Amino acid sequence: MCFSTCRIFLDQTLFRRQSQRKHCSNGTGHSAVSRNTGCNHAGAACVKGANMSRIWGRMLAICLLLGSTVLAHHAAFAAEPKRELVKVKGNLYRFINNHHASVVYDTKDGLIVGDPINREAALWLQAELQSRFSKPVRYMFYSHHHADHASGGEVFAEAGAQVIAHKNALANLKTKSVPTALPTILFDDTLTISLGESEVVLKYLGKNHTDDMIIAHFPAEEAVFAVDFVSVERLPYRNLQGGSFPDWYLSIDRLTKLPFTYLVPGHGKVGIHFDAIEHGHYLRELENRVKRAKKAGLTLEEMRNNIKLPRYQHWQNYDEWLPQNIMGMYRAVIDPDS
Ligand SMILES: [Zn+2]
Repeated sequence: MCFSTCRIFLDQTLFRRQSQRKHCSNGTGHSAVSRNTGCNHAGAACVKGANMSRIWGRMLAICLLLGSTVLAHHAAFAAEPKRELVKVKGNLYRFINNHHASVVYDTKDGLIVGDPINREAALWLQAELQSRFSKPVRYMFYSHHHADHASGGEVFAEAGAQVIAHKNALANLKTKSVPTALPTILFDDTLTISLGESEVVLKYLGKNHTDDMIIAHFPAEEAVFAVDFVSVERLPYRNLQGGSFPDWYLSIDRLTKLPFTYLVPGHGKVGIHFDAIEHGHYLRELENRVKRAKKAGLTLEEMRNNIKLPRYQHWQNYDEWLPQNIMGMYRAVIDPDS
């Protein structure tokens, strides 16, 4: 709002200055333009012009001052991430860091933490846990190797936490040079953490968004923490990069066979078991539509422009990400080189 106003002031000021130069620069005040605009008597008209110039100059200065104040405010706001730790149910908490989310599980013998997200987020969480629970973090697990979820793990590792990940994550973390602690415990299919008379079950459900994705099942809270391959009324991220099909749906099928009520995703809102089923339906329908369009002779560009999935149009990022999802599915099931 302020920027557009300032822009108008600035444009008008420049216009006035150019206009004054045009009218008064020859000193005689007898140009055709000046005659028609009251600049004949160069003295009076140009004094008036000079006054106007000062007024516009002051307005510009005020505007620049206001603009810099707004910019400073915006910079301060942008630098202040939204972080909170909220209870989901029972001993399960959700850690939110802007658009990313992780989990914390409270047991009587210590805490279990999910993705650290990044170093600054992990440092904030560490201080928050210390003030709220005064218990050590005994275990931390990475949902998968992507840097926007797994970075910053050294904060908890250096404080004594055991770091857990799927066995495929080790090489991925090294190859991608993710700035985090490498896992000290690797597993293949299932790993149950028993701590303080509580249990958290980590499971590998197959390839989906990556080849090292695990979920955390909290049986006592009837909840599952699942990241990036499933979400709640939100399209999968952009062009499904790295996604494997049909493995992706199959992993969602395996997820939906677990006994849980609450779906706690790594992005977006918390949902229920049905939301996981719906996410699987979306991906299957997307694949079917792309394959049918290919049979009908549509090009990728025609698919991106014409395929609509109105059942899901209320989902987050539908308009922006659907064409990208179509392209990702096309690459995954039709032509990887497109
Ligand atoms: Zn990811």
